[in-house]
Amino acid sequence: MIQENMNDIKIAVLGSEGVGKSALIVRFFTKRFIGEYASSSECMYRKRLILDGRQMNLELFEPCSQSFQNKISVNDQMHWADGFIVVYDISDHSSFLAARCVVKLIREHRFGSAKRDADSLIFLVGNKHDLCHMREVRHEEGQCLADEFRCQFHELSAAEHYQEVALVFSKAVQSAKAKERRRRPSGAKSMAKLINNVFGKRRKSV
Ligand code: GDP
Ligand code: MG
Repeated sequence: MIQENMNDIKIAVLGSEGVGKSALIVRFFTKRFIGEYASSSECMYRKRLILDGRQMNLELFEPCSQSFQNKISVNDQMHWADGFIVVYDISDHSSFLAARCVVKLIREHRFGSAKRDADSLIFLVGNKHDLCHMREVRHEEGQCLADEFRCQFHELSAAEHYQEVALVFSKAVQSAKAKERRRRPSGAKSMAKLINNVFGKRRKSV
């Protein structure tokens, strides 16, 4: 189990229903924007990519919104993921409030004591920028929330901005990967490194 995790990068894509989580993931994976997506079931998307010459398995998890209200599964998601993309819809203020709760939850559940650990692992995304004329959440509000919880912040449109979508996901992948690296010992202690590689990188594993 430990071995198969070595090259996995796990990112949870969270946010209320209808904000465009599936649209963003599909856009990143296929470069295409497709109008409608199955929304009732939770989804795991997998992709292989080469990062720094290493083959990595990227797993993106999008929970269905019902499971999101279940605290236990939220807890599971927090521990499963190496990084988080939290999405709201700039034309829907309630989705912004939901995103705030999610970001807060991630901080509390996952990074309560080691706050520095969470830096750059949470990406706050204001989606549907093409609906700017119907905006209910100001850019500054998003930025403010991001600053408060030390998230990276991007406003974009799954429908119109492939480059930005790709950039956010790539950054999220890089950050999650960098975090994996920090978990393992670094420097010249190669024996410790070797032992660690053989017996697993996660100290918590039982
Ligand atoms: P999810 O429930 O968060 O997975 O949301 P979906 O990806 O299923 O998208 C919900 C709806 O929003 C769909 O009708 C999408 O076509 C639409 N949508 C997603 N992203 C955008 C966007 O960037 N702009 C616009 N105008 N609509 C979008
Ligand atoms: Mg969806």
